[in-house]
Amino acid sequence: MILVLIDHDRGEIDPLSLRALTAARKLSHEVEAVAIGSEGASLAGIVGEYGATALHVATHSSIIDYTPMASGRALKDLVEKLKPAAVLAAGSPRGNEQLAHLSAFLDIPMAAECSEITLGSPHHVLRARWAGNLIESAFVHSDLLVATILGFSIEAQTTGGEPATVVSFEPSLHPADTVVRILSRDSGESKGGVTLNDAKVIVSGGRGVGGAEGFGKLEELAELLGGTVGCSRVVTSSGWRPHAEQVGQTGTKVAPDLYIAAGISGAMQHIAGMKNSKTIVVINTDPEAPILRYADYAIIGDLHQIIPALTSAIRQAKG
Ligand SMILES: Cc1cc2nc3c(=O)[nH]c(=O)nc-3n(C[C@H](O)[C@H](O)[C@H](O)COP(=O)(O)OP(=O)(O)OC[C@H]3O[C@@H](n4cnc5c(N)ncnc54)[C@H](O)[C@@H]3O)c2cc1C
Repeated sequence: MILVLIDHDRGEIDPLSLRALTAARKLSHEVEAVAIGSEGASLAGIVGEYGATALHVATHSSIIDYTPMASGRALKDLVEKLKPAAVLAAGSPRGNEQLAHLSAFLDIPMAAECSEITLGSPHHVLRARWAGNLIESAFVHSDLLVATILGFSIEAQTTGGEPATVVSFEPSLHPADTVVRILSRDSGESKGGVTLNDAKVIVSGGRGVGGAEGFGKLEELAELLGGTVGCSRVVTSSGWRPHAEQVGQTGTKVAPDLYIAAGISGAMQHIAGMKNSKTIVVINTDPEAPILRYADYAIIGDLHQIIPALTSAIRQAKG
């Protein structure tokens, strides 16, 4: 049996978990799912639809919201009981973090961001390294494979199955397991309530925007297109925008229909987060900027002139 961690934010599933379920099914084993926290029980329908027969739900009075070390402990308890062949999760920051805790508790290796898995002795994986610029072929020497699935390496496929059977269990947590927990939240939503993860259009700005106030133009264009604003790390490090908007290796990995990169040079850590976008439009004063290699369309010029011109042309076209 393959056990898949279904990550959720207070009951709202991370769609990347459905890709992990699909990857698990391809390993030709029965697939069961696990969600941490009582709100996870509401996901029985969707995980059943994507092929899981059971949904184990870890409930405990100390598991409130996201507590990654407690997740690791709960997974350890379940692994010892069910003895799966592998534990998989989405290769998201949260998926990686929770499985890293599981591996640490079990004292076995963990393979992050795998695009291909072959179970065996040893297991074999292909996985993305160096922000996706290198594919590593690696053997994992442990009976149990603990691995996360590279975000966009597989599409989620439904089986149309029945809702999974919910099996609740209470993990035996230690007091230290909840020292890392959520204290407060920054919604990370645009004015229209769109987040980076679900936006179809992202208007992203880099150092070339010049300061926090310059982002007003990007916000206006994003709102007009029903999208949201993203940015590079220079922008979040400078305090111009919140971290929730950062795209890249240490930010959010996105794949919208349209990604507009304005004043962003195209460092590999940024490219790692947006190269799967369907259409990439680059606005940059430098015709040699590395990001141009990834552009479907490029406008060479000053974003402070081009973005307002685009906004006004789109407004006119929309009447
Ligand atoms: C471990 C690690 C992790 C990292 N993770 C991330 C990450 O997740 N995301 C990320 O983005 N970066 C990340 N970085 C940082 C990354 O290496 C780059 O430093 C960063 O992406 C550069 O940001 P930028 O493109 O905005 O700035 P710059 O590289 O300074 O580029 C600015 C661009 O703006 C253009 N420009 C200037 N003025 C204008 C104008 N008026 N109109 C149009 N264009 C203009 C310039 O020609 C230039 O191409 C990481 C780095 C490390 C070491």
